[in-house]
Amino acid sequence: MQKNRKSVFPGGVHPTDGSDKILSMDAAVQQYWPDTVTILSEQSFGGKCRLLVKAGDTVEEGQLIGEPEAFMAAPLHASVSGRVLDVTEVMNQGRKILACIVQREKEHREPEGVYRTAAADIRGISREEILAGIRDGGLTGMGGAGFPTHKKYETDKKIDTLLINGAECEPFLTCDYRLMLEEGHALVNGVRLLLKGSGAERAYICLEDNKPQAAENLSSILKEARESGVMESSEQVEVKVLPTKYPQGGERQLIQAVTGREVPMGGLPADVGVIVSNVGTARAAADMILGGLPLIRRIVTVTGSVKNPGNYLVPVGTSAKELLELAGGVTVSSNRVIAGGPMTGPCVASDWNGEEELFYITKNTSGILVLPDSVYEEQPCIRCGGCENACPAGLAPWKIDFAFQEKDYDLCEKLYASECIACGCCSYICPAKRELTVRTRMARDAVKQRMRERAVKKA
Ligand code: SF4
Ligand code: SF4
Repeated sequence: MQKNRKSVFPGGVHPTDGSDKILSMDAAVQQYWPDTVTILSEQSFGGKCRLLVKAGDTVEEGQLIGEPEAFMAAPLHASVSGRVLDVTEVMNQGRKILACIVQREKEHREPEGVYRTAAADIRGISREEILAGIRDGGLTGMGGAGFPTHKKYETDKKIDTLLINGAECEPFLTCDYRLMLEEGHALVNGVRLLLKGSGAERAYICLEDNKPQAAENLSSILKEARESGVMESSEQVEVKVLPTKYPQGGERQLIQAVTGREVPMGGLPADVGVIVSNVGTARAAADMILGGLPLIRRIVTVTGSVKNPGNYLVPVGTSAKELLELAGGVTVSSNRVIAGGPMTGPCVASDWNGEEELFYITKNTSGILVLPDSVYEEQPCIRCGGCENACPAGLAPWKIDFAFQEKDYDLCEKLYASECIACGCCSYICPAKRELTVRTRMARDAVKQRMRERAVKKA
């Protein structure tokens, strides 16, 4: 295990003392297989799939039910075995999305193989087979935007370093922590496969120093794998412990903290020889390539103002409402329900009474968080500079905010709004409680759209 207290990135904040994670971090993951699932044809924003099934069809768990139609999409599979009740549009986080509703008729099938309890022999698996597994298994990022994994690994750039992201820096979320504790063997085997698939020389499993048990567990699994002789000496995999600081798990911040390299503005990690994948994605790689199970399930943290906070392993398409009921229901009537963590997750309901549907679990849903509602009003900016100091992307959020409100998109572009990573640090730090993140994110999207339109005109 390598500990590096100095490897940091500029900006960032320390949102909490960690007491929020304690709510759910010590409880073992529980499995939950609902009677029906609602599998969205768009698993991440813009990741649209064409559904291949119709009402009345019978599907088997892991069967391909959707083909990618967009750049951001990955193949989609049935998350349970049963009958398709309907293929219809459903409301999800304020948008209508086509979905496949399946009634479960069979018990869940656990993937086969000893890879979940011991080091797997991967010598006979070629790089091409790994890349095919990543693509055919519908693997995506499982922490952020849900970027299709095969698009990262099929790069023609020279990759020398693979970073496996277990930082889980957002307050409240503990699903990755439980995965690192409970599924360490599958995770390490997945990292070894991704290392081989990426062509990189070394892989680092990166996590923050507030998760010492997970770091110890993974280090001892790696040691055991090396001693067993199954893991070859060329498989350079290390655990890297980083200082706790938000957003340590941001792709660019992680790359800078571990390798010292800066991804150029408008560039990608591959431009500096790096691929970053989430720990959940590594485990999914092992499930697919060694266990034959595509990405159809994930661990979700259900926490905050709920009776029994915890982590649940559920099939894709599970209802968030059902998961909140499973966690004992919300404990405050004046509340905000957030899909994900408090810094980056969208608020999907206010004063939710437990009645209406909220959203459906997708491959990149890390958590469902209920917070007591706090009413505050935005105040004028006092030019304190706090947001500028905290911005890990090196932006001036208050200037972008003003430019965006004036609809001055030329200025937004000059201020590099396109580089905003929507981390939430600026809003968190602002004493005037300005909604900076919402507006810098909107400015980013507007600027990126203009850039895309210019590129199309030029072509
Ligand atoms: S401007 Fe964007 S990147 Fe910078 S702190 Fe705000 S949300 Fe984060
Ligand atoms: S932190 Fe808030 S008050 Fe301070 S400069 Fe930024 S927007 Fe203005």
